[in-house]
Order: sequence, then structure tokens, then C-alpha cells
Amino acid sequence: MGVNSGSFDKDRVVIVGGGVIGLCSAYHCLKSGLPVTVIDQHQPSDSGCSYGNAGMVVPSHFIPLAAPGMISKGLKWLANPEGPFYIRPRASMELMRWCKIFMAHATDKHVRESRELLRDLNLESRRIFVGMAKDAGCKLEEKGLLMLCNTDKGLDEEAEVAGMADELGVQAEVCSPERLKELDPGIEMDVKGGVWFKQDCHMDPASFMHGLRKKVVEMGAEMVTDARVTALHRGSAGTVSLDGVNIPPGLQIVLACGSWSGDLLKTLGRRLPMQAGKGYSLTLDRPTQLPELCSILCEAKVAVTPMGAHLRFAGTMEICGNDISVNPRRVRGIVRSAQKYFPRLKQGDFEGLKPWVGLRPCSPDGLPYIGRVSGYSNLTVATGHSMMGLSMGPVTGMLVSEIVADGQPLLDITKLAPLRFG
Ligand SMILES: Cc1cc2nc3c(=O)[nH]c(=O)nc-3n(C[C@H](O)[C@H](O)[C@H](O)COP(=O)(O)OP(=O)(O)OC[C@H]3O[C@@H](n4cnc5c(N)ncnc54)[C@H](O)[C@@H]3O)c2cc1C
Repeated sequence: MGVNSGSFDKDRVVIVGGGVIGLCSAYHCLKSGLPVTVIDQHQPSDSGCSYGNAGMVVPSHFIPLAAPGMISKGLKWLANPEGPFYIRPRASMELMRWCKIFMAHATDKHVRESRELLRDLNLESRRIFVGMAKDAGCKLEEKGLLMLCNTDKGLDEEAEVAGMADELGVQAEVCSPERLKELDPGIEMDVKGGVWFKQDCHMDPASFMHGLRKKVVEMGAEMVTDARVTALHRGSAGTVSLDGVNIPPGLQIVLACGSWSGDLLKTLGRRLPMQAGKGYSLTLDRPTQLPELCSILCEAKVAVTPMGAHLRFAGTMEICGNDISVNPRRVRGIVRSAQKYFPRLKQGDFEGLKPWVGLRPCSPDGLPYIGRVSGYSNLTVATGHSMMGLSMGPVTGMLVSEIVADGQPLLDITKLAPLRFG
């Protein structure tokens, strides 16, 4: 499908991808006075990765996915068909390269070098979220997040993270089971304790997405759906043009295609190591108990989020290409884990629920890709946020608006350069 080229002015920003990163980028570009077109291959639908996720805004997540201990934990989980992590073995140079980079970054040094940047990105995003959620007509619950542990080892590990949080100025409190009861009275939990990250928030991501889409349209964005960009190619004077859609050359292009972004950049001969991390969510309409606070079940890696009267459980990370088939054993793993921490939940509560599936865009070092693609005068990339795309959406949008206007980004984002792996 073609885009109405008559509507283009020379400073228009063309954003490819209408997920949370694309819409947040549109919002901030419009706010800074730039006209915007958002192109997506699909109609907006609750099935996209930005709609059915766990809805958490997480200053607590300052440790990148590539961190010490992740490889040994990952290997252990691989052996469990109901476990939270899986890599489907396949002959793929891209997968091998991604794993190699991941392993090289699973070090203390990488954590030390990344944690302040991740903290700053998430805290700034949380700050911006307050106004954006209002603009989107969506309620941001500013109650914090509980990291719940059902083993002593898990609690020790989380307490260590809380210590690190303290050093970084992120508010965290180690909680006994009694303290957890005070924080969320009436909720029966079978846990050894947990950590309350006080600045974290939660929301219904679909409500945010629908509201934000409406808002950017009101602000003047042109939304083009059912239009797939099939390739990028180098045009004249170092500019990039889009194939598959009809837009004039030379406009600023922002690539925010989530887990598909690497495939598009490849058509330009550039590498953006990326793997889709498949996850599921299940939402109970009438839960037997409805916590006030969102939580992460640490050992099981399951996120639990109250959304109005509903309760969502989200989890698993399956690295298996852009495949959205449902693995019922892993979905069962989410349900079993939830019952261990919240014993009042019954198997029957989940019967007949259709799992939602989403593909997280995962970079191998656990840091997003945000910045201009060197060698091209009009191409910016904003993707690779893995399990923090909602959380970092607002700050990413702000950074994109500064980059396309050739301004100074509010944070030093050198470490997020899209071509950092060559
Ligand atoms: C189970 C689960 C729980 C999660 N929980 C959280 C959470 O609590 N907090 C959090 O911050 N994050 C969470 N995430 C991660 C978050 O959902 C993602 O990081 C985020 O949605 C990624 O947004 P995006 O805009 O980059 O990609 P997407 O939402 O995937 O959007 C990309 C868009 O680009 C379009 N597109 C792709 N290729 C093309 C093309 N060639 N032409 C045109 N359009 C194209 C696609 O159609 C799509 O609409 C979770 C993810 C999962 C799976």
C-alpha cells in the first residue's frame, strides 16, 4: 500500500513501526513541532507485543539481561520443558553470533558499565510517563513493584540487588513476609520475603497504546496501516529510502520495528544483532484475589500485574525466531509458578484462557539500540528494548525527537549506538 506522498513536507519524520517505541517517538517529535507519519504493516491490535505485556515501568531493572549467572541459570532452565527460558537450536549464523555477543557481555564489568545508564533511562522514562499517561487517558499506578522470593537463595540474591539499588539511588526495601502483608493486605502469598522497589509503576499497556495512538492522531500524526516496508536502500547523497511504501526521498526515517528491525537493516547490508524473545501472558477476568501491587516471582521469572479488576500473569523467554506459536507446556509453567507463590489461585481459574503471545526485541547485551546509523544522513534506529520496551518508551521517544532534530540528546547514549557490534 502506498503512502499519500502529497502530504509530505521536507522536515517530516517517517516512523516505521507503530508499537510503543514508534508511538512514543511520534508523540515527542510532534511535541517538538515536527510533522510525523507512522507506518505499520498491521492494523493496531491487542495482539502486538506492546499491547499484552506485563505493563510494568521498571527503574528497578538496572541490571542488563546479559549479566553474570544468566548463562548457568539459562542452561538449567533449558532442561525444564516448563521452565522460563528456552533457545530453539537451529542452524543460524545470526543466532550463533547473538549468543556469542551475549556470552561476552555476561560479566560484572558489563553490569557495572551499564547500570547507571539503565537507571537513568528508566527513571527519566518514569518521570515522562506521568504526563504521557495523562495525555493517553491511562492510569499509571505509582505503587512500586514487589520482587517476591520463595527460596532463601532467591531472597539473598534480591537483597544484594537492593543493596546495589541503594548505591545507585534507586529506592528499595528488603521485606519480610509480615512486611509484605502490610504492603498488600489480604493477599495470601507463600514466600520467604521480597524487595519492594518503590519507584516502579504499572499500567494496562493496551489502554496506554490505544490512548497514545488517539493522542498522536489529535496532534496531527498521519497513521498508515497495512503498509509493509520491504527493504531499505541507499539513495543519493547518503540518504536511505524505503521500499514497499511510497514516500519521497530524503525524509528523516526512524526504524522502530521491534524484533523485525534487524531484518530490515540487513537489506542495507548492516548488522543489528537481534533475537525475538517470545513470551506469553494470561489475564484473569475475575481473580480469586487481586493484589494492589504488581510483582515479579523471582525464581520463576513470572510477572503479575493487577489491571483494573483483572490480573495478568506474564512470563517465559523463548528464543526461537519470529515464531508466534504457543507452547502449552511453558504456559502451564507460568500457571504452576503463580500457584506456588499465590496458593489461593487454582488450576481451574486459568482453564479456557487463551494465552497472548508477544515477541520482545532482544539485543545481545541487554541495552537498546538508540541513535543514528552512521554513514546515512537520515536513518535513526530505536529498538532492542527486550523486556523494557514499555518502561523505556517515553525516554526513547524523547531521545529520538532530539536526534532527528540534530539536537543534543538529554543523556549520553554513545553505548546505545545501533552499529556498536560492527
Ligand atoms: C510477556 C511479555 C511481558 C512484557 N512485559 C513488559 C513490561 O512489564 N514492561 C516493559 O517495559 N516491557 C515489557 N515487555 C516488553 C515490551 O512489550 C517490548 O519491549 C515492547 O513492546 C517492544 O516495543 P516495540 O515498539 O519495539 O516493538 P513492537 O511492539 O513489536 O512494534 C513493532 C511494530 O513494527 C511493525 N513492523 C515490523 N516490521 C515492519 C515493516 N517491515 N513494515 C512496517 N511495519 C513493521 C510491527 O507490525 C509492529 O507493530 C514484555 C514483553 C513480553 C513478551
